[in-house]
Amino acid sequence: MPELTVNELSTKEPITWCPGCTNFAILTATKQAIAELVNEKAVERKNIVQVTGIGCHAKIFDYLNINGFYSLHGRAIPIGVGLRIANPKLKPIVFAGDGDALAEGVSHYIYACRHNTDMTMVIHDNQVFALTTGQATPTTERGFKGKTTPQGNYENPINPLTLALSSGATFVARTYALDIQKTKEILKEAVKHEGASVVEVMQPCLTFHDTRDFIKQHLYWVEGNNKQSFEEAYKIAAEWDYSLDPKSKIAMGIFYQVKKPTFAEKLGIK
Ligand code: SF4
Repeated sequence: MPELTVNELSTKEPITWCPGCTNFAILTATKQAIAELVNEKAVERKNIVQVTGIGCHAKIFDYLNINGFYSLHGRAIPIGVGLRIANPKLKPIVFAGDGDALAEGVSHYIYACRHNTDMTMVIHDNQVFALTTGQATPTTERGFKGKTTPQGNYENPINPLTLALSSGATFVARTYALDIQKTKEILKEAVKHEGASVVEVMQPCLTFHDTRDFIKQHLYWVEGNNKQSFEEAYKIAAEWDYSLDPKSKIAMGIFYQVKKPTFAEKLGIK
């Protein structure tokens, strides 16, 4: 069987992201991760299913040549859960934005983690509703001036990773979209993990929330942490409060990975 190439995972659809959008980097990392996983026989191409919500992130559906389900805003995660339960051979990769997963879809996010559903949730976190041209989401920093918050966002952000950990996710990671190599490696580990994998990809929106310089200056990679330690993972995940405080430290890497019974195992359908 010839090796699967990144080109075969591309489509001919014209790409409508803004020029330079960090979603391009996520698309590249995802294609590389899938090609390597398939070539290493970790998973069969026909069994990888992408599920998207609605938002700039969701356009990835048109550009990634694998099976998929283009769903509704806030409802990508339950579609992934349903696919995994209906056909245990499938490996859903759910792409959701920060608005998608943490506003309308937040109960699904919590329950996919709580059930430890065997699928990967990739949260494209640009800290803004971008497709609708710049409103605050649950991860937007306090004080952000957008179309629905002209006097500044008055809420504190939700931390998607401490929420995932306290809800029961068994693989929790954060990465930076523009580090394609690291993002690819983390995505591969997330897909291989049996259980609920959450990968938050910080992906600044160049048009409505451009934090590229801030994130680049404040990120650091967690190497050699004790991934079995919930307390250590929680501490690392909670370190950044999603503000643009100049003292911020933004940890990146795999914070947590443990083996626990999956939703399908608990239901006895694996
Ligand atoms: Fe990317 Fe932002 Fe443009 Fe959407 S609005 S395509 S997230 S740069």
